[in-house]
Amino acid sequence: MELRIQLIPTGEIILAPGKNGENYCHSCKVVGSDGVRAMMESALTARDRVGVQDFVLLENYTSEAAFIENLRKRFKENLIYTYIGSVLVSMNPYRDLEIYTKNHMERYRGVNFYEVSPHIYAVGDNSYRSMRTEGKDQCILISGESGAGKTEASKKILQYYAVTCPASDKVQTIKDRLLQSNPVLEAFGNAKTLRNDNSSRFGKYMDIQFDFKGAPVGGHIINYLLEKSRVVHQNHGERNFHIFYQLIEGGEEDLLRRLGLERNSQQYQFLVKVSDNNYTDLNSRQNQINPFPPGVSSINDRSEWKAVKKALTVIGFNEDEIEELLNIIASVLHLGNVQYGGEDGTACITTDTQIKYLSRLVSPLNLEQASSARDALSKAVYGRTFTWLVNKINASLAYKDDSSKHYSVIGLLDIYGFEVSKTTGNFEQFCINYCNEKLQQLFIELTLKSEQDEYEAEGITWEPVQYFNNKIICDLVEEKFKGIISILDEECLRPGDASDITFLEKLEGTVGGHAHFVTHKLADGKTRKVMGRDEFRLLHYAGEVNYNVMCMSENKILNQCFDREELSDKKRPETAATQFKASLAKLMEILMSKEPSYVRCIKPNDAKQAGRFDEVLIRHQVKYLGLMENLRVRRAGFSYRRHYEVFLRRYKSLCPETWPNWQGKKQDGVATLVKHLGYKPEEYKMGRSKIFIRFPKTLFATEDALET
Ligand code: ATP
Ligand code: MG
Repeated sequence: MELRIQLIPTGEIILAPGKNGENYCHSCKVVGSDGVRAMMESALTARDRVGVQDFVLLENYTSEAAFIENLRKRFKENLIYTYIGSVLVSMNPYRDLEIYTKNHMERYRGVNFYEVSPHIYAVGDNSYRSMRTEGKDQCILISGESGAGKTEASKKILQYYAVTCPASDKVQTIKDRLLQSNPVLEAFGNAKTLRNDNSSRFGKYMDIQFDFKGAPVGGHIINYLLEKSRVVHQNHGERNFHIFYQLIEGGEEDLLRRLGLERNSQQYQFLVKVSDNNYTDLNSRQNQINPFPPGVSSINDRSEWKAVKKALTVIGFNEDEIEELLNIIASVLHLGNVQYGGEDGTACITTDTQIKYLSRLVSPLNLEQASSARDALSKAVYGRTFTWLVNKINASLAYKDDSSKHYSVIGLLDIYGFEVSKTTGNFEQFCINYCNEKLQQLFIELTLKSEQDEYEAEGITWEPVQYFNNKIICDLVEEKFKGIISILDEECLRPGDASDITFLEKLEGTVGGHAHFVTHKLADGKTRKVMGRDEFRLLHYAGEVNYNVMCMSENKILNQCFDREELSDKKRPETAATQFKASLAKLMEILMSKEPSYVRCIKPNDAKQAGRFDEVLIRHQVKYLGLMENLRVRRAGFSYRRHYEVFLRRYKSLCPETWPNWQGKKQDGVATLVKHLGYKPEEYKMGRSKIFIRFPKTLFATEDALET
């Protein structure tokens, strides 16, 4: 009998008859003229070179060094995907790999997770099939720090569905719109940062809705907290949102004229690079030295502009609407150029005669107040435009078939990555990191829980594994009455002498003793010199970050916007922090109601370079993503589980009583088979529908037996 050798993702070697009777190893590309033994050896060598495709198969699975070594081997071979059971670990290759072609998509379509090499398409396909066969809504949670590849992963999944799911004309329109929503949202919501040239500055949860035939028929996007401060200020080496540069670089002459714009981003204060030292001078951005070059080598604003315009049209914007939208973008740039003067310390606009008159209507603000009012207005206009854009996209993606409102859903979560920074973080970074804490918690709960559920469903007992539960940090931030957000609310909405400093004092009084909270004050009354008096530090699960209290309570402006009576009313207005907390709670609810799959993205280096494996950086991510614990949980139980039917079909030839066909119950057949093979009682357990095998070597031995 001719045999085919295949290295399957779990690292097992399977000997099975080739489709055309050929001897061919798919992974190491060896044709079997040398005979099966040679192929087997070659496959084993390949396994040594490329590492194991599922960390569960690591002999030394508790060793972090072995884990990292496996990642390194695979990364070197451009094998960026590896499993921990069903969790996909993905390394950003920082180069285009030939693994996303239509052929690749076909290879993963409808194929069992474990029968093909690890891939983002396998995750997409697995969720899709679970949705179809079990009728349960799914979600795919993509996490990892900024620049780790979350957005790219979510786009790959969407492309996979667009290509492989059934289509009709109507469905094609929805597929196009789903795909085209990306360039639009990225233009308005992404920017170049130090960590990532295309960093998402908003969180995104997208539902893809499928009809009973499995065709995508609609979608819905929820956006989370856009980093609006970027509109008026960017750190050294970073840029404003892409759309500004795209419009200025790519906008047609006519259009720019109508919008009153010049093709030179350095004309616009919000786009001119302000060196960090000068930032305190809110009003004098014009004559900055060292302007930031608008172009970034990895970004082509002109061609992106064309793509964005096309995408807007596909989504259903007409010419007038596009122009209106761009008008707002232009007006933000104009607003940024409004300058103030005034001899007696009060502000009046000096840039244009007409605005000058208008400015008299404004209450007498000093220069700083006037500048920050201008900035606040610019941020608000941009933020609201972004929300409007998301609503427009949602309207165009809405499932319109009235005859059957029933659909299944796959949700994709691509949220801004955790941001560890040496510089002090602001309110928005606080929210971003808080959000990542919540997602980590969900991961911990669900990976453990789902594992436990399966053992329970199958009637198998097991000992839970110890792990760090970051609930303690989530509570520190969000607990009612005692958490940072509650205290912030109280201070922001309290009439009277509330200030940044009273906020910090209150924090010290309430959470000062918390193990994950640090300020300049030491327990013995002395001060910690390395910390400012206006900041606090949170020891996040992923690293330590300092936050500035001034930026935190920025939303105290809210305080001034509400009159006292309104504040004393029972229904207090909500601060930005509370709104964010509520929207996250809602998100967790949505995710909990679905069956999750996980993609854990790792950033290989900070230089955005291909082929560079920075071990320290990677080890840190492996640690905080909880990958070792994840692996231990997976291994503490049983590495392998197979439905009785599948197991029997595969190995029945190894036992005279089960070969060629077992007539009785499958479970009894498997019991007879493993008894014949000499499995020891501690090596396996029989569940209700599956056999659970504790060690990989048990299964390896059985695989080996197939050969002889
Ligand atoms: P952020 O949290 O800042 O939004 P992110 O995790 O979404 O970060 P991405 O924007 O997806 O990061 O990836 C950053 C860059 O890395 C991409 O622009 C691309 O150049 C590269 N990259 C990521 N994934 C891949 C991949 N699978 N193949 C090739 N390049 C990739
Ligand atoms: Mg992103």
